[in-house]
Amino acid sequence: MNREASFRHYQGMKALTPGGVSSPVRAFEPSPVFISSGKGCVITDEDGNGYVDLCMAYGPLILGHSHPSVVSAVKKQMNNGTVFGAPSVREMELIAEISKRVPCAEMVRLVNSGTEATMHALRLARGYTGRRGVVKMKGGFHGSHDALLSDISQRPSGNGILRETASFTHAVEYNSEEDVESILEKNDDIAAVIMEPVLGNAGVVPPKKDYLRNVRKITKNEGILLIFDEVITGFRLSAGGAQEFYGVTPDLCTMGKIMGGGFPAGALAGKRDIMQLLSPAGPVYQAGTFSGNPVTAAAGTAALREMTNEKYEYLNRMSSELVSSISDSLEDNGIPATVNAVGSMFQVFFGPGPVNNGTDASGCNRKVFADLFRNMLDSGVYLPPSALEVNFLSTEHGPELGKLSEAFGTNLRRIA
Ligand SMILES: *Cc1c(COP(=O)(O)O)cnc(C)c1O
Repeated sequence: MNREASFRHYQGMKALTPGGVSSPVRAFEPSPVFISSGKGCVITDEDGNGYVDLCMAYGPLILGHSHPSVVSAVKKQMNNGTVFGAPSVREMELIAEISKRVPCAEMVRLVNSGTEATMHALRLARGYTGRRGVVKMKGGFHGSHDALLSDISQRPSGNGILRETASFTHAVEYNSEEDVESILEKNDDIAAVIMEPVLGNAGVVPPKKDYLRNVRKITKNEGILLIFDEVITGFRLSAGGAQEFYGVTPDLCTMGKIMGGGFPAGALAGKRDIMQLLSPAGPVYQAGTFSGNPVTAAAGTAALREMTNEKYEYLNRMSSELVSSISDSLEDNGIPATVNAVGSMFQVFFGPGPVNNGTDASGCNRKVFADLFRNMLDSGVYLPPSALEVNFLSTEHGPELGKLSEAFGTNLRRIA
Protein backbone atom coordinates (compact mmCIF):
# COMPACT_ATOMS: atom_id res chain seq x y z
CA MET A 1 0.00 0.00 0.00
CA ASN A 2 1.46 3.31 -1.13
CA ARG A 3 1.33 6.07 1.50
CA GLU A 4 3.74 8.51 -0.13
CA ALA A 5 1.54 11.59 0.19
CA SER A 6 1.03 10.94 3.92
CA PHE A 7 4.81 10.65 4.43
CA ARG A 8 5.38 13.89 2.58
CA HIS A 9 2.68 15.78 4.52
CA TYR A 10 4.01 14.39 7.81
CA GLN A 11 7.48 15.81 7.10
CA GLY A 12 5.87 19.13 6.25
CA MET A 13 3.70 19.12 9.36
CA LYS A 14 6.63 18.25 11.63
CA ALA A 15 8.29 21.50 10.59
CA LEU A 16 5.11 23.43 11.35
CA THR A 17 3.66 21.92 14.53
CA PRO A 18 5.27 19.98 17.42
CA GLY A 19 5.44 16.30 16.49
CA GLY A 20 3.55 16.90 13.26
CA VAL A 21 0.07 16.38 14.74
CA SER A 22 -2.58 18.52 16.42
CA SER A 23 -3.12 16.00 19.26
CA PRO A 24 -0.46 13.52 20.43
CA VAL A 25 -2.30 10.19 20.10
CA ARG A 26 -2.51 10.70 16.32
CA ALA A 27 1.25 10.40 15.82
CA PHE A 28 2.79 7.07 14.88
CA GLU A 29 5.85 6.00 12.91
CA PRO A 30 6.84 5.88 10.17
CA SER A 31 3.96 8.25 9.43
CA PRO A 32 0.36 8.87 10.44
CA VAL A 33 -2.17 8.61 7.64
CA PHE A 34 -3.47 11.93 6.31
CA ILE A 35 -7.19 11.58 5.75
CA SER A 36 -8.87 13.40 2.91
CA SER A 37 -12.45 12.20 3.32
CA GLY A 38 -14.83 9.97 5.24
CA LYS A 39 -18.20 8.49 4.38
CA GLY A 40 -20.07 5.95 6.50
CA CYS A 41 -17.48 3.65 8.06
CA VAL A 42 -14.80 4.23 5.41
CA ILE A 43 -12.05 6.86 5.37
CA THR A 44 -9.81 7.65 2.40
CA ASP A 45 -6.26 8.97 2.66
CA GLU A 46 -4.35 11.48 0.54
CA ASP A 47 -2.94 8.64 -1.58
CA GLY A 48 -6.45 7.37 -2.34
CA ASN A 49 -6.27 4.30 -0.06
CA GLY A 50 -9.53 3.36 1.67
CA TYR A 51 -9.75 2.02 5.22
CA VAL A 52 -12.60 0.64 7.29
CA ASP A 53 -12.45 2.97 10.28
CA LEU A 54 -12.54 1.51 13.79
CA CYS A 55 -11.10 4.63 15.41
CA MET A 56 -14.05 6.81 14.43
CA ALA A 57 -12.32 9.97 15.64
CA TYR A 58 -11.99 8.35 19.10
CA GLY A 59 -15.70 8.09 19.65
CA PRO A 60 -17.86 10.92 18.29
CA LEU A 61 -19.01 9.23 15.06
CA ILE A 62 -21.66 6.78 16.25
CA LEU A 63 -23.54 7.39 12.97
CA GLY A 64 -20.43 7.12 10.81
CA HIS A 65 -18.79 9.89 8.78
CA SER A 66 -21.00 12.49 7.05
CA HIS A 67 -24.35 11.07 8.08
CA PRO A 68 -27.02 12.65 5.79
CA SER A 69 -29.29 13.81 8.69
CA VAL A 70 -26.39 15.54 10.39
CA VAL A 71 -25.08 17.09 7.18
CA SER A 72 -28.47 18.49 6.26
CA ALA A 73 -29.06 19.97 9.77
CA VAL A 74 -25.63 21.61 9.63
CA LYS A 75 -26.12 23.03 6.13
CA LYS A 76 -29.46 24.49 7.13
CA GLN A 77 -27.96 26.18 10.19
CA MET A 78 -24.88 27.44 8.33
CA ASN A 79 -27.08 29.46 5.99
CA ASN A 80 -28.59 31.17 9.05
CA GLY A 81 -25.33 32.04 10.80
CA THR A 82 -22.63 30.11 12.60
CA VAL A 83 -22.18 31.90 15.92
CA PHE A 84 -24.13 34.65 17.67
CA GLY A 85 -22.79 35.14 21.19
CA ALA A 86 -26.44 35.29 22.19
CA PRO A 87 -28.93 32.54 23.02
CA SER A 88 -30.54 30.54 20.22
CA VAL A 89 -33.28 27.93 19.99
CA ARG A 90 -30.71 25.48 18.55
CA GLU A 91 -28.91 25.21 21.89
CA MET A 92 -32.18 24.91 23.79
CA GLU A 93 -33.11 21.96 21.56
CA LEU A 94 -29.81 20.18 22.22
CA ILE A 95 -30.07 20.77 25.98
CA ALA A 96 -33.62 19.41 25.96
CA GLU A 97 -32.54 16.28 24.04
CA ILE A 98 -29.71 15.67 26.52
CA SER A 99 -31.90 16.31 29.54
CA LYS A 100 -34.59 13.95 28.23
CA ARG A 101 -32.11 11.08 27.89
CA VAL A 102 -29.55 11.39 30.68
CA PRO A 103 -30.86 10.45 34.16
CA CYS A 104 -28.79 12.94 36.25
CA ALA A 105 -29.26 15.84 33.81
CA GLU A 106 -31.81 18.03 35.55
CA MET A 107 -29.82 20.97 34.18
CA VAL A 108 -27.20 21.12 31.44
CA ARG A 109 -24.46 23.63 30.58
CA LEU A 110 -22.99 23.44 27.08
CA VAL A 111 -19.23 23.91 26.56
CA ASN A 112 -16.85 23.20 23.66
CA SER A 113 -14.91 20.09 24.62
CA GLY A 114 -14.70 17.25 27.10
CA THR A 115 -11.69 18.93 28.67
CA GLU A 116 -13.71 22.04 29.42
CA ALA A 117 -16.56 19.96 30.78
CA THR A 118 -14.44 18.11 33.36
CA MET A 119 -12.49 21.24 34.28
CA HIS A 120 -15.69 23.08 35.11
CA ALA A 121 -17.32 20.05 36.75
CA LEU A 122 -14.41 19.92 39.17
CA ARG A 123 -14.59 23.65 39.89
CA LEU A 124 -18.32 23.26 40.49
CA ALA A 125 -17.77 20.33 42.85
CA ARG A 126 -15.23 22.38 44.80
CA GLY A 127 -17.57 25.36 44.90
CA TYR A 128 -20.45 23.18 46.08
CA THR A 129 -18.60 21.25 48.80
CA GLY A 130 -16.01 23.83 49.86
CA ARG A 131 -13.40 21.05 49.68
CA ARG A 132 -10.27 20.91 47.54
CA GLY A 133 -9.21 17.32 46.75
CA VAL A 134 -10.36 15.08 43.93
CA VAL A 135 -10.17 11.31 43.49
CA LYS A 136 -9.69 9.85 40.02
CA MET A 137 -8.93 6.39 38.66
CA LYS A 138 -5.50 5.23 37.53
CA GLY A 139 -5.67 5.01 33.74
CA GLY A 140 -8.67 7.35 33.70
CA PHE A 141 -8.50 10.34 31.35
CA HIS A 142 -10.53 13.51 31.65
CA GLY A 143 -8.89 15.83 29.15
CA SER A 144 -5.67 17.75 29.29
CA HIS A 145 -6.08 20.33 32.08
CA ASP A 146 -3.72 20.35 35.06
CA ALA A 147 -5.92 19.10 37.89
CA LEU A 148 -7.03 15.87 36.24
CA LEU A 149 -3.97 15.13 34.14
CA SER A 150 -1.81 14.97 37.23
CA ASP A 151 -1.94 13.05 40.46
CA ILE A 152 0.17 12.99 43.59
CA SER A 153 1.70 9.63 42.72
CA GLN A 154 3.20 11.06 39.50
CA ARG A 155 5.16 13.87 41.23
CA PRO A 156 5.28 16.13 38.19
CA SER A 157 8.31 18.28 37.66
CA GLY A 158 9.40 20.11 34.57
CA ASN A 159 6.22 19.19 32.71
CA GLY A 160 4.47 22.46 33.46
CA ILE A 161 2.15 21.10 36.13
CA LEU A 162 2.61 22.50 39.61
CA ARG A 163 3.40 20.04 42.36
CA GLU A 164 0.91 21.99 44.46
CA THR A 165 -1.86 21.34 41.93
CA ALA A 166 -1.01 17.67 41.66
CA SER A 167 -1.06 17.32 45.44
CA PHE A 168 -4.86 17.66 45.41
CA THR A 169 -5.39 14.83 42.90
CA HIS A 170 -5.49 11.30 44.26
CA ALA A 171 -5.49 8.34 41.85
CA VAL A 172 -6.92 5.02 42.97
CA GLU A 173 -7.36 1.70 41.17
CA TYR A 174 -10.55 1.27 39.12
CA ASN A 175 -12.82 -1.62 40.13
CA SER A 176 -11.73 -1.38 43.78
CA GLU A 177 -14.37 0.21 45.99
CA GLU A 178 -11.99 -0.50 48.91
CA ASP A 179 -9.48 1.98 47.41
CA VAL A 180 -12.13 4.71 47.24
CA GLU A 181 -13.25 3.96 50.78
CA SER A 182 -9.74 4.05 52.18
CA ILE A 183 -8.76 7.39 50.62
CA LEU A 184 -11.99 8.96 51.86
CA GLU A 185 -11.32 7.64 55.37
CA LYS A 186 -7.86 9.20 55.44
CA ASN A 187 -8.76 12.51 53.83
CA ASP A 188 -11.68 14.76 54.75
CA ASP A 189 -10.85 17.42 52.13
CA ILE A 190 -12.17 15.55 49.05
CA ALA A 191 -14.79 17.33 46.94
CA ALA A 192 -15.54 14.60 44.42
CA VAL A 193 -14.76 11.26 42.87
CA ILE A 194 -14.53 11.63 39.09
CA MET A 195 -14.49 8.49 36.99
CA GLU A 196 -15.24 7.09 33.58
CA PRO A 197 -17.98 4.55 34.39
CA VAL A 198 -16.27 2.27 31.85
CA LEU A 199 -12.54 3.02 31.50
CA GLY A 200 -12.16 4.11 27.89
CA ASN A 201 -8.68 5.55 27.86
CA ALA A 202 -7.02 2.38 29.12
CA GLY A 203 -8.44 0.29 26.31
CA VAL A 204 -11.88 -0.82 27.49
CA VAL A 205 -12.34 -1.85 31.12
CA PRO A 206 -15.95 -2.46 32.21
CA PRO A 207 -17.05 -2.23 35.84
CA LYS A 208 -17.38 -5.39 37.94
CA LYS A 209 -20.85 -6.22 39.16
CA ASP A 210 -22.02 -3.68 41.80
CA TYR A 211 -18.79 -1.64 41.67
CA LEU A 212 -20.47 1.55 40.40
CA ARG A 213 -23.36 1.05 42.80
CA ASN A 214 -20.92 0.70 45.71
CA VAL A 215 -18.95 3.81 44.74
CA ARG A 216 -22.28 5.65 44.56
CA LYS A 217 -23.11 4.48 48.10
CA ILE A 218 -19.71 5.41 49.52
CA THR A 219 -19.68 8.91 48.01
CA LYS A 220 -23.23 9.55 49.19
CA ASN A 221 -22.40 8.47 52.74
CA GLU A 222 -19.34 10.73 52.78
CA GLY A 223 -21.33 13.69 51.43
CA ILE A 224 -19.06 14.17 48.41
CA LEU A 225 -20.01 14.36 44.76
CA LEU A 226 -19.82 11.51 42.29
CA ILE A 227 -19.00 12.72 38.78
CA PHE A 228 -19.29 10.31 35.86
CA ASP A 229 -17.13 11.39 32.96
CA GLU A 230 -19.35 10.16 30.14
CA VAL A 231 -17.47 11.89 27.33
CA ILE A 232 -17.10 8.44 25.72
CA THR A 233 -19.95 6.42 27.24
CA GLY A 234 -22.59 9.16 26.94
CA PHE A 235 -24.99 8.34 24.07
CA ARG A 236 -22.69 5.38 23.28
CA LEU A 237 -23.76 2.55 25.59
CA SER A 238 -27.39 3.64 25.45
CA ALA A 239 -29.33 6.85 24.88
CA GLY A 240 -28.88 7.69 28.57
CA GLY A 241 -25.22 6.65 28.66
CA ALA A 242 -23.53 4.42 31.24
CA GLN A 243 -25.67 5.82 34.06
CA GLU A 244 -28.77 4.44 32.35
CA PHE A 245 -27.01 1.27 31.14
CA TYR A 246 -25.84 0.36 34.66
CA GLY A 247 -28.67 2.03 36.59
CA VAL A 248 -26.43 4.21 38.77
CA THR A 249 -27.06 7.97 38.85
CA PRO A 250 -24.17 10.32 39.64
CA ASP A 251 -24.53 13.88 41.02
CA LEU A 252 -22.86 15.39 37.95
CA CYS A 253 -21.75 14.07 34.61
CA THR A 254 -19.66 15.35 31.76
CA MET A 255 -20.28 14.64 28.09
CA GLY A 256 -18.63 15.38 24.75
CA LYS A 257 -17.77 13.43 21.59
CA ILE A 258 -21.11 11.97 20.32
CA MET A 259 -23.24 14.89 21.55
CA GLY A 260 -21.60 17.23 19.00
CA GLY A 261 -22.58 15.09 15.99
CA GLY A 262 -18.97 15.32 14.76
CA PHE A 263 -18.35 18.94 15.81
CA PRO A 264 -16.37 20.12 18.87
CA ALA A 265 -18.65 19.86 21.89
CA GLY A 266 -18.96 19.23 25.57
CA ALA A 267 -21.47 19.54 28.36
CA LEU A 268 -21.74 19.25 32.08
CA ALA A 269 -25.00 18.23 33.63
CA GLY A 270 -26.42 17.28 36.97
CA LYS A 271 -28.73 17.90 39.84
CA ARG A 272 -30.46 21.25 39.86
CA ASP A 273 -29.24 22.50 43.26
CA ILE A 274 -25.61 21.89 42.26
CA MET A 275 -25.90 23.22 38.68
CA GLN A 276 -27.58 26.41 39.93
CA LEU A 277 -24.22 27.44 41.44
CA LEU A 278 -22.86 28.08 37.92
CA SER A 279 -22.65 31.68 36.73
CA PRO A 280 -24.68 33.74 36.08
CA ALA A 281 -27.18 31.91 38.36
CA GLY A 282 -24.52 31.36 41.04
CA PRO A 283 -20.96 32.20 42.12
CA VAL A 284 -18.96 29.45 40.30
CA TYR A 285 -17.65 31.14 37.16
CA GLN A 286 -17.94 29.41 33.79
CA ALA A 287 -18.02 30.93 30.30
CA GLY A 288 -17.15 30.41 26.61
CA THR A 289 -17.45 32.39 23.36
CA PHE A 290 -18.44 29.34 21.31
CA SER A 291 -20.45 27.55 24.03
CA GLY A 292 -23.82 26.41 22.69
CA ASN A 293 -22.63 27.06 19.16
CA PRO A 294 -25.65 26.76 16.85
CA VAL A 295 -23.89 24.61 14.23
CA THR A 296 -22.64 22.16 16.84
CA ALA A 297 -26.06 22.19 18.50
CA ALA A 298 -27.84 21.48 15.19
CA ALA A 299 -25.44 18.60 14.45
CA GLY A 300 -25.71 17.18 17.97
CA THR A 301 -29.49 17.37 18.06
CA ALA A 302 -29.75 15.63 14.69
CA ALA A 303 -27.38 12.87 15.82
CA LEU A 304 -29.14 12.22 19.14
CA ARG A 305 -32.55 12.09 17.43
CA GLU A 306 -31.22 9.63 14.84
CA MET A 307 -30.05 7.19 17.55
CA THR A 308 -33.24 5.29 18.37
CA ASN A 309 -33.24 2.36 20.80
CA GLU A 310 -33.46 -0.01 17.81
CA LYS A 311 -30.25 1.49 16.44
CA TYR A 312 -28.48 0.94 19.76
CA GLU A 313 -29.64 -2.68 19.78
CA TYR A 314 -28.47 -3.19 16.20
CA LEU A 315 -25.12 -1.53 16.89
CA ASN A 316 -24.44 -3.51 20.06
CA ARG A 317 -25.43 -6.76 18.33
CA MET A 318 -23.00 -6.07 15.46
CA SER A 319 -20.27 -5.38 17.97
CA SER A 320 -20.78 -8.66 19.86
CA GLU A 321 -20.65 -10.54 16.55
CA LEU A 322 -17.32 -8.97 15.63
CA VAL A 323 -15.92 -9.43 19.14
CA SER A 324 -16.78 -13.12 19.21
CA SER A 325 -15.15 -13.65 15.83
CA ILE A 326 -11.97 -11.90 17.11
CA SER A 327 -12.02 -14.04 20.27
CA ASP A 328 -12.32 -17.17 18.10
CA SER A 329 -9.32 -16.10 16.01
CA LEU A 330 -7.24 -15.49 19.13
CA GLU A 331 -8.16 -18.90 20.46
CA ASP A 332 -7.59 -20.69 17.14
CA ASN A 333 -4.09 -19.22 16.95
CA GLY A 334 -3.28 -19.87 20.61
CA ILE A 335 -2.60 -16.19 21.30
CA PRO A 336 -2.84 -15.28 24.98
CA ALA A 337 -5.08 -12.21 25.03
CA THR A 338 -8.19 -10.73 26.57
CA VAL A 339 -10.93 -8.99 24.63
CA ASN A 340 -12.82 -6.48 26.77
CA ALA A 341 -16.06 -5.22 25.30
CA VAL A 342 -19.20 -3.37 26.22
CA GLY A 343 -21.84 -2.03 23.85
CA SER A 344 -20.09 -0.88 20.68
CA MET A 345 -16.66 -0.45 22.33
CA PHE A 346 -13.95 -3.12 22.45
CA GLN A 347 -10.21 -3.62 22.78
CA VAL A 348 -7.82 -6.55 22.51
CA PHE A 349 -5.18 -6.78 25.26
CA PHE A 350 -2.23 -9.06 24.53
CA GLY A 351 -0.92 -10.96 27.54
CA PRO A 352 -2.24 -13.32 30.19
CA GLY A 353 -5.05 -11.03 31.51
CA PRO A 354 -7.56 -10.45 32.96
CA VAL A 355 -7.68 -6.66 32.53
CA ASN A 356 -9.73 -5.15 35.36
CA ASN A 357 -8.07 -1.79 35.89
CA GLY A 358 -5.68 0.79 34.46
CA THR A 359 -2.58 -0.95 35.79
CA ASP A 360 -3.56 -4.27 34.18
CA ALA A 361 -4.22 -2.43 30.90
CA SER A 362 -0.90 -0.63 30.78
CA GLY A 363 0.90 -3.89 31.61
CA CYS A 364 -0.25 -5.56 28.39
CA ASN A 365 2.07 -6.24 25.48
CA ARG A 366 2.06 -3.07 23.38
CA LYS A 367 4.62 -4.37 20.91
CA VAL A 368 2.28 -7.10 19.73
CA PHE A 369 -0.49 -4.53 19.51
CA ALA A 370 1.71 -2.28 17.36
CA ASP A 371 2.32 -5.26 15.02
CA LEU A 372 -1.38 -5.87 14.74
CA PHE A 373 -2.02 -2.17 14.13
CA ARG A 374 0.48 -1.99 11.24
CA ASN A 375 -0.75 -5.21 9.64
CA MET A 376 -4.37 -4.10 9.89
CA LEU A 377 -3.51 -0.77 8.30
CA ASP A 378 -1.97 -2.60 5.33
CA SER A 379 -5.14 -4.70 5.12
CA GLY A 380 -7.22 -1.54 4.90
CA VAL A 381 -8.47 -1.33 8.49
CA TYR A 382 -7.74 1.78 10.55
CA LEU A 383 -7.49 0.86 14.25
CA PRO A 384 -6.79 3.49 16.89
CA PRO A 385 -2.99 3.53 16.98
CA SER A 386 -2.66 2.75 20.71
CA ALA A 387 -3.54 -0.33 22.76
CA LEU A 388 -4.91 2.08 25.38
CA GLU A 389 -7.58 3.46 23.06
CA VAL A 390 -10.91 1.98 21.99
CA ASN A 391 -12.24 0.39 18.81
CA PHE A 392 -15.63 1.92 18.08
CA LEU A 393 -18.32 0.64 15.76
CA SER A 394 -20.91 2.91 14.16
CA THR A 395 -24.37 2.16 12.80
CA GLU A 396 -22.74 2.13 9.33
CA HIS A 397 -20.31 -0.77 9.87
CA GLY A 398 -22.77 -3.55 8.96
CA PRO A 399 -21.68 -4.06 5.32
CA GLU A 400 -18.00 -4.27 6.33
CA LEU A 401 -18.31 -6.71 9.26
CA GLY A 402 -17.17 -9.63 7.12
CA LYS A 403 -14.10 -7.76 5.92
CA LEU A 404 -13.27 -6.79 9.52
CA SER A 405 -13.51 -10.37 10.84
CA GLU A 406 -11.41 -11.61 7.98
CA ALA A 407 -8.72 -8.92 8.47
CA PHE A 408 -8.50 -9.69 12.20
CA GLY A 409 -8.33 -13.42 11.41
CA THR A 410 -5.57 -13.06 8.83
CA ASN A 411 -3.46 -10.63 10.81
CA LEU A 412 -3.78 -12.40 14.17
CA ARG A 413 -2.57 -15.55 12.40
CA ARG A 414 0.33 -13.55 10.96
CA ILE A 415 1.50 -12.20 14.35
CA ALA A 416 0.86 -15.45 16.31
C1 LIG B 1 -11.92 12.50 24.98
C2 LIG B 1 -12.15 12.54 26.45
C3 LIG B 1 -12.10 13.74 27.18
C4 LIG B 1 -11.62 15.02 26.56
O1 LIG B 1 -12.50 15.49 25.62
P1 LIG B 1 -11.95 16.58 24.53
O2 LIG B 1 -13.18 16.94 23.76
O3 LIG B 1 -10.91 15.88 23.74
O4 LIG B 1 -11.39 17.71 25.31
C5 LIG B 1 -12.48 13.73 28.50
N1 LIG B 1 -12.88 12.59 29.10
C6 LIG B 1 -12.92 11.41 28.44
C7 LIG B 1 -13.40 10.19 29.14
C8 LIG B 1 -12.54 11.35 27.11
O5 LIG B 1 -12.52 10.17 26.48
